[in-house]
Amino acid sequence: MCPQTVFTFLFVWIEEKVEGARNKRIHLDHQPFSLQKVLKKSVKHSLWLVIATITALTFVGYFTPIKTLVADFATFELGFWPLFFIVFFTLCTYGNAGWMRETMCTHMCPYSRFQSSMFDNDTVTVTYDRARGESRGPRPKKLSAEQVKTMGLGDCIDCNLCVQVCPTGIDIRNGLQYECINCGACVDACNGVMAKMGYEPGLISFTSANALKGKAAALLRPKVIGYFIVLLCMIAALSFELITKKPLDIDVVRDRANLYRETLNGSIENVYTLVIMNKEQHAQKVSISTEGLPKPVFHGKLSLTIEGGQMVRHPITIELDSQSIEQAVTPFSIIVTNESGDAVNSDSTFIFR
Ligand code: SF4
Ligand code: SF4
Repeated sequence: MCPQTVFTFLFVWIEEKVEGARNKRIHLDHQPFSLQKVLKKSVKHSLWLVIATITALTFVGYFTPIKTLVADFATFELGFWPLFFIVFFTLCTYGNAGWMRETMCTHMCPYSRFQSSMFDNDTVTVTYDRARGESRGPRPKKLSAEQVKTMGLGDCIDCNLCVQVCPTGIDIRNGLQYECINCGACVDACNGVMAKMGYEPGLISFTSANALKGKAAALLRPKVIGYFIVLLCMIAALSFELITKKPLDIDVVRDRANLYRETLNGSIENVYTLVIMNKEQHAQKVSISTEGLPKPVFHGKLSLTIEGGQMVRHPITIELDSQSIEQAVTPFSIIVTNESGDAVNSDSTFIFR
């Protein structure tokens, strides 16, 4: 579930397809510039950039209608901010998965820091079975189990493959380390080695320290109960938010250029822009009213339909008889109500003098 790992593995997979296995890639990096090297590097970086751009488009598409976004992107008609964020997230993806990789995990990832505070000996995590693996060392494949035992060796043949595949570059045989992101790459690598050697799999596996010692895991531990209560509180808070969610949202922006204006018949006008958001997926018909103003006269539509998920900016002018205004600044509310009677309001002021 870690996007950093998923993208890193995807980028490494492309790197392997274009430049070959790890030793070939190191060899290529040390070679002087040649047509073949430039070609391979260009293909790799182009593919990385294509994936990074698709990722950025998808991500920005969560905040703006994606059909228009993709069409505008393809026809070079993007506005400044969508273009800025697409370029920004493209560079982030390309930099993170292509160049930074495990640096992100070891220095910036909050997950590994959380893990260490939540751990205890019953936590299931990627673990090296020290008792079975040590002492480590190479041996001919044809040796029998008894011969290996006589030599004082455990099951680890010290091939270092688990370290080579680790995206954060750690050696899991040194025990639990905060850099470990539980990706399981070392588990797969080591199981492959065990299969080749004719040994049982699971020298590195998802297990707990207590399970390795043969102790049964206690499910109802104080930490588990504590975290369960915290989780329940979070679910309750989220459910409350969802249940009490308003289908509309409103923001009122006053016209700052003219605080008020006087009409020919002596009335006073204030101009506002209502920013109304439809939070539902379907269209909503809404009506606009006010509370706290003496006999307001409106100029502008008081009823409009907003498409699902859309936000509209709706200008409106409110006119008051100057005789009815008692103070320079009159606070009042603008209320937007839908057909089901759900209402949202925003406070504003009517200014005169
Ligand atoms: S699970 Fe293994 S490969 Fe993955 S980060 Fe942890 S030690 Fe490294
Ligand atoms: S992959 Fe397995 S056998 Fe090889 S060094 Fe790591 S733990 Fe030992």
